[in-house]
Amino acid sequence: MTGARNARSELKNFAVKIHEYQAKELLRSYGVATPAGHACFTVEEAVAAARKLAGKVWVVKAQIHAGGRGKGGGVKVAKSLDEVRDHASRILGMQLKTPQTGPEGQKVRRLLIEEGADIRKELYIGIVVDRGTQRVTLMASSEGGMDIEEVAAKAPEKIHRTAIDPATGLTDREAEDMAIRIGIPEETVPQARELLKALCRAFERTDASLVEVNPLILTGEGRVVALDAKMNFDDSALFRHPEIVALRDLDEENPAEVEASRHDLSYIQLDGNIGCLVNGAGLAMATMDIIKLYGGAPANFLDVGGGATTGKVTEAFKIMLRNPKLAAILINIFGGIMKCDIIAQGVVAAAREVGLTVPLVVRLEGTNVETGKRMLAESGLPIISGANMADAAQKVVAAAAGR
Ligand code: GDP
Ligand code: MN
Repeated sequence: MTGARNARSELKNFAVKIHEYQAKELLRSYGVATPAGHACFTVEEAVAAARKLAGKVWVVKAQIHAGGRGKGGGVKVAKSLDEVRDHASRILGMQLKTPQTGPEGQKVRRLLIEEGADIRKELYIGIVVDRGTQRVTLMASSEGGMDIEEVAAKAPEKIHRTAIDPATGLTDREAEDMAIRIGIPEETVPQARELLKALCRAFERTDASLVEVNPLILTGEGRVVALDAKMNFDDSALFRHPEIVALRDLDEENPAEVEASRHDLSYIQLDGNIGCLVNGAGLAMATMDIIKLYGGAPANFLDVGGGATTGKVTEAFKIMLRNPKLAAILINIFGGIMKCDIIAQGVVAAAREVGLTVPLVVRLEGTNVETGKRMLAESGLPIISGANMADAAQKVVAAAAGR
């Protein structure tokens, strides 16, 4: 499928995220050095937290599930308790806009107050799953700080990679080589080696999908410390990590997605205006691709699953209709185990209960398809029937465009 970006690239947010202060607590339990700090919900708590921390310099950090906070004014250094108070009152409650939040920004409800760090050098560490080598891969660069994306684009040779053998984990040798490659001075290499190994161990044991420390700093005293920390987790493994589920902050998650997960629906909100209701993740992906192929943009990914009941279809409708951008809906169902007449019954009931405010295109295929189609036709609802996927996609793209 040329031209249009495919559906998979849109689903990058299919992971559970936690706050920086939570990631740091987790990493500390694996032996990673971080600055001392406290999470706060009010300005008074922020000042009290600063008072508890040693030193004369503090950093006030907005806690939202997005990076680039420094650039958006969400990370401020304070040289007195009054400055802590000023920064905390300004940042708490602000609508923080960063390159990762989208134009509307994200409301700041929590702060992290940390002791100020003595930064000699800012480095970068990232751990991801590399699908190419099928290995967990450690990435590191001497060019850490706020512009790692620019480094990746302009000087990719400055980002070093090591694929980790799952049988051994990151070895001492690999960790030391990496430390040396990113310019860590000799006397700090042993501490850096242990820190890198601890990061990799944390990634593996928590079923993370991303660990990112940007920056990892080299301090004036020659220690390495994680100044920032980001962790995402594979949601397929969450069932064995109640301790990570407990860290979820639903304020940071899309309300429609939270509501959908309550009804056992896989739903991810996207930027387009065509709602998709599909059974099966693969068909849902293909549906999004074909919408894009015909020039439209999906408003969501939604897999109602194999056992879609009338109730589930109704909830799915309600969730899609809450999206102010929604201009049309495409229902694409392949009735295999699920029969088309049952689906049709669900669609009609849901459309009646919720009240259709946008054009609805339905493509049904599979068991009892004729009965299903007749039920839709006889319902009296303004449903546009699609003969096949391509026809349905073209019709919904036209309907969303008001054609
Ligand atoms: P991000 O912008 O969301 O990635 O937030 P970071 O936690 O990475 O902070 C952004 C930048 O703020 C860092 O790259 C540092 O340059 C700076 N910063 C963070 N903490 C401190 C600190 O304790 N002291 C000083 N001087 N700068 C800090
Ligand atoms: Mn950062």
